[in-house]
Amino acid sequence: MAQQRPQPVRTCVVCREKSSKRALTRIVRTETGVYVDLTGKVNGRGAYLCAAPACWQRAAQSDVLARALRTTLTDADRERLRLHRS
Ligand SMILES: [Zn+2]
Repeated sequence: MAQQRPQPVRTCVVCREKSSKRALTRIVRTETGVYVDLTGKVNGRGAYLCAAPACWQRAAQSDVLARALRTTLTDADRERLRLHRS
């Protein structure tokens, strides 16, 4: 019997839903701010968001994401999250 390779699993920082890494979007904290990491390869502290618009909204408006990244979100950071969602 073929062995199933375990999929990397990550947790959405807002709703705590666990999904395969590919289904989630990585957000990364860099020295210049918080960015949506579409490559998954940007160096820095990362957090994951699921595809639910409500999670992106909360990530931009509340401090949940900021806490996960151990930073504070600037207006520019929040704007980037909002733009990505739309
Ligand atoms: Zn979520």
